[in-house]
Amino acid sequence: MKKDISALTLAELTDLAASLNEPAFRAGQIFGWLHDRAVSSFDEMTNIPSSLRGRLEEEYYIASCDIEEKYVSKADGTVKYLFRLFDGEYIESVVMKYKYGSTICVSSQAGCRMGCRFCASTIAGLKRNLTAAEIERQLHSAQKDLGVRISHIVLMGIGEPLDNFDNVMDFIKNVTDPKGLNISARNITLSTCGIVPRIYELMEKRLQITLTVSLHAPNDGIRNSIMPVNSKWGVSELIAACREYANTTSRRVSFEYTLISGVNDSDECALELAELLKGMLCHVNLIPVNDVTERKNTRSSAPRINKFAHILQKSGINATIRRTLGSDINASCGQLRRKRSEVAQ
Ligand code: SAH
Repeated sequence: MKKDISALTLAELTDLAASLNEPAFRAGQIFGWLHDRAVSSFDEMTNIPSSLRGRLEEEYYIASCDIEEKYVSKADGTVKYLFRLFDGEYIESVVMKYKYGSTICVSSQAGCRMGCRFCASTIAGLKRNLTAAEIERQLHSAQKDLGVRISHIVLMGIGEPLDNFDNVMDFIKNVTDPKGLNISARNITLSTCGIVPRIYELMEKRLQITLTVSLHAPNDGIRNSIMPVNSKWGVSELIAACREYANTTSRRVSFEYTLISGVNDSDECALELAELLKGMLCHVNLIPVNDVTERKNTRSSAPRINKFAHILQKSGINATIRRTLGSDINASCGQLRRKRSEVAQ
């Protein structure tokens, strides 16, 4: 079976060039074609001798990520894509415009096996991991389509990035490479539901990326009921890992807290959360839960959300309420893929 050449890092391409008795600079050229120019065929690599192109083509393919559907929010210009991969899998990405530039939210897996009760991405389970290149191609496809340079990446689309650890690490290596997109690691955010051993592993990489943890509850009782991952690594273990991550990397950890009416949005929850995070270099993002057809969750009212935020702030916790973008286009991930998969079944 052919392998995805666009998933290789520059170091791996250099090894490949050596194994083919090619000069090392070829690796840099090929890397540039794949990651800076984002070509979709070997023929487009015009400064690579055709004999070498032919040899590469025998063993490798270039990842594809084709636009299947596109929605533009009339409210705020947020763009949502449904992409089709080479094997017919579908994934989603969202591009948001902020004052500081464009941010893309990319998927890291086709489906997800984490089982969070409020989330659409996990309903049909995990189909497969994405390669490093399939994660990156979402950005190239969107950039080409929109004619803008995307400067920020959040790994917050479909999938659990730390459940596809090696490919996600290669993705980060490739997009931060000066010969590729040259995106600053500080502009990359990785969001996890809390796979604790992998948080420590990530910490050891000493990357400058921002770690975001989907916490959604201040104690095991509530978290177990909405996030199955918590039965493996509980709240205290997770928070200990986050504290160590913040101390070791000197990077502020963010927490996502999706407010679901009557589940995790009481004053007591806010106070418990404040106690849990006391003294930590962190930030809490409060998110009104998004409607998912198959999930019966009700959004907390605006006054409830404001009160929750106020309690945190009064306790010295840095907390903001996330602005909802693209609400008219189902911008929260997982729902388009799900619809499309149902049609395909
Ligand atoms: N698996 C990773 C990243 C993907 S989910 C993680 O869990 O962090 C991205 C974020 O969206 C997570 O914080 C997730 O909990 C949240 N999310 C999922 N479904 C949601 C919904 N219906 N409403 C609001 N946030 C949701």
